[in-house]
Amino acid sequence: MLIIFCLMACMILYTSHVIQDVAVTNIREVGEDRLSGVAAQLENYLDMTKSVLWVTADTVDHMARNGSTAQEILQYITEESDNQEQHFDENFTGIYGYVLGEYLDGVGWTPPEGFDPLQRDWYLAAKEANGDSTIVSPYVDAQTNAVIISISRMLSNGTDVLSLDVRMNHIQDITSELQIKGKGYGFIVNRDGMVIAHHNEARRGMYLNKTEEDRELMAKTLEVQNGNFQVRMDGEKSTVFVHEIMDQWYVVLVVSNGELYEEVWQQLAINVLISIVIFALIAFFYLLGRRNEQNYSRRFEEMRAEEQRQTYESKALKLEKEAADQANRAKSAFLADMSHEIRTPINAVLGMNEMILRDSLRARDSGELDKEEERTVFNNILSYASNIESAGSNLLSILNDILDFSKIESGRMDIVEGEYKLGSVLNDVSNMIFFRAKDKGLDYTVDVDAAIPDSLYGDEVRVRQVIINVLNNAVKYTGKGSVRLQVRKGAEASPEQEDTVCLSIAVTDTGIGIKPEDMEKLFTKFQRVDLNRNSTVEGTGLGLAITQRLLEMMGGSIRVESEYGVGSTFTITLPQRIVSWESMGDFETKFEKNMLKAKPYEEYFRAPEARILVVDDTHMNLNVVIGLLKSTEIRIDTASGGKEAVDLARGNAYDLILMDQRMPMMDGTEAMHAIQNQENGPNRDTPVICLTADAILGAKERYLTEGFTDYLSKPIDSSALEKMLITYLPADKVELRKRTNAVSVREKGRISGDEFDFLRDAGVDPEAGLRYCQGDTAFYRSLLEDYLRNATQKIGEIQRNRYTEDWQNYGILVHALKSTSRMIGADELADAAAGLEEAAGRGDVDAIRPAHPEMIKRYLDLMDVLAVHIDIDEPAGEDVRADGDDEVLEFFPE
Ligand code: ADP
Repeated sequence: MLIIFCLMACMILYTSHVIQDVAVTNIREVGEDRLSGVAAQLENYLDMTKSVLWVTADTVDHMARNGSTAQEILQYITEESDNQEQHFDENFTGIYGYVLGEYLDGVGWTPPEGFDPLQRDWYLAAKEANGDSTIVSPYVDAQTNAVIISISRMLSNGTDVLSLDVRMNHIQDITSELQIKGKGYGFIVNRDGMVIAHHNEARRGMYLNKTEEDRELMAKTLEVQNGNFQVRMDGEKSTVFVHEIMDQWYVVLVVSNGELYEEVWQQLAINVLISIVIFALIAFFYLLGRRNEQNYSRRFEEMRAEEQRQTYESKALKLEKEAADQANRAKSAFLADMSHEIRTPINAVLGMNEMILRDSLRARDSGELDKEEERTVFNNILSYASNIESAGSNLLSILNDILDFSKIESGRMDIVEGEYKLGSVLNDVSNMIFFRAKDKGLDYTVDVDAAIPDSLYGDEVRVRQVIINVLNNAVKYTGKGSVRLQVRKGAEASPEQEDTVCLSIAVTDTGIGIKPEDMEKLFTKFQRVDLNRNSTVEGTGLGLAITQRLLEMMGGSIRVESEYGVGSTFTITLPQRIVSWESMGDFETKFEKNMLKAKPYEEYFRAPEARILVVDDTHMNLNVVIGLLKSTEIRIDTASGGKEAVDLARGNAYDLILMDQRMPMMDGTEAMHAIQNQENGPNRDTPVICLTADAILGAKERYLTEGFTDYLSKPIDSSALEKMLITYLPADKVELRKRTNAVSVREKGRISGDEFDFLRDAGVDPEAGLRYCQGDTAFYRSLLEDYLRNATQKIGEIQRNRYTEDWQNYGILVHALKSTSRMIGADELADAAAGLEEAAGRGDVDAIRPAHPEMIKRYLDLMDVLAVHIDIDEPAGEDVRADGDDEVLEFFPE
């Protein structure tokens, strides 16, 4: 546009210039033409006048030569004058002259006295012209005020002159027409500067020498003579055209430039205007074009973007579809896998069961068996049963995974937070993994940062679960070498989270490793990788997906580094709130010690007199309970439904009922109410323990309010079941077994302050205990030994008094328990005992009923922990009697 503008400007300048040039030249030519036209007219007129004089002069010359008298000649010129004025030109004012020695006048003018014709201008001029006719300078007639010129000629005798006077009227008229297109004005001036004709009457006969402008005009006129020049007239720049006539006059035309070039200016203005309009149009169309182009390119861009979006969307859709297909395929594969995974252990269970049935039947039907045969049968059955156990637990873990996962997927998985001890979680998972690793010949090592605080706030169950998942995988996918658990404090917590520790839990193995291309799939549900190598390893491909989801829910994450064929490290990062800053201390040493003290299962009690009813619609579960309680010799009746249980309860008195909650037809709660409402029924007051898989928080309270005595979660833990029975079976039917310690290895003398840290797990504050012993650890240890040694007997006595409702003795016993417990630092137990002592003092059975079993369980838990860590070599007190290999307590010594 700028370039076009410049070009246009140049063009305007150039064309204006050209137009001006042409126009000016044109105007000048027009001016000069006009002037020469007028000049020619004037010359013609004067020539004609001269001719008239010439003819008359010839006649007069002839008459004079042929002897005509002056009188005759006067008569002739008088007639001729009249004739000429009348018939030829009104401006001819008469003929006169000096002929035959006297002055003759054709109009009868009488010259004044002293008039000498030979001295007149007309005579002198004619004489000078010597035979040619000549124009004499004009003069102003005094009478008419008209400018008059005289034309004279000398006659052939060389003395006589004839002259004709002509008024300038006609010349004046011609001069008045002198204009260019009606502009400007003209005049005639002679060589002397006298104005002969002028449109302005006042200036006629005047001289052009009054003003500076006039003088300049006159000078230039004389200089140029024919042509044009510029001059200032009346204060305006003007163009002056001049043309000489008759060798003595100048016809002059004056036009002010303003007037002269008015049209040129107009034309130029129009030219510029048109150019500007053209430019504006060009600019307009250019901008319009540009805008259209922009619009077009914008629309084009939009179209392209839209196209891209569509391609992107269709790609995304395709990817989504692929992902959905993939997920579907994974789900189908999962279902196939699952059926396989579930079918395998079930087949094992059924197969093993079949073997047990066959062997048992054969043993029963083959009559008497000798000892050896009996042992073989039992051994077989034992091995089948242990296979069934492993298949069952495998099945359970698969089902748990599926349940967990579907809960997470449907958003029903809740994170239930509470206080917990990280040390105890690490201890539990390490315990479990240690044995699995040992079975496979793997080393298991733990490395825990001693500075990590022990008391944290979070979902203990889920924390445990994610660590176990990763540890289990490490053991599963490692053939030889080691598995290492390392717990560190992660990145420094930010100031606003100073009560939070970021746990970094790394599990490193020397296993098969993971191919880089498989890394991404690890955390995808139902995805198992490297199936060629793993086909023999049990798994569902859910573990890591669950682990990752759970960690996300807890604000944590998991990442993996692995080298195929070398090993993998899974690192869990998990922020947890700190409850107390007390640090965990030397975990490894404690853990290793624990492992050394690991001991085989040992049951708590015998109760051959007791009789219980177990109700469950799943036959296997009934068998589990029977199996678990076999060594206690309790008499067990079973019912496979609520209805059957109610029937059995009507005719048999039980000491305790284990009731499954979820059963078809009649559920556990209904069955319990039916039994408790039986008229004169023998089991109206029998404790009923609820068996349920609802391991959620609050479930226990719900069942207790419905009327259950207590609550056991499935799958049933044998030790929990035993503790439950000790608590609720009539005390007179329970023979408590004294717990021995399986560990004989003990580094005597190596006693240190944190040696008693294990007590914290059991709710004992060793520092309080040590304070009581004035820091003497040996003394404290002997106190703990005493406490453990007497515990079994004490529990028996307390139970017995509770059973017989002898609140006085009960009060004495719990009082003693309170003070011994305080001594060793078991404050929680001491508090519970104190509460019961008080209630017993008031005889407040309603307060004792719920608090008593809680205290007993706490007591038994403490015993568990003490039994693992404290040696009691000497036999117990007097009322503890050896019975066979075991030491058994009897509650009612005869
Ligand atoms: P699975 O039940 O199959 O173990 P997971 O979700 O726990 O399911 O693990 C998914 C897959 O990741 C496994 O099938 C296995 O191929 C791979 N994987 C997990 N942990 C390890 C490990 N420590 N070493 C090698 N591969 C592993």
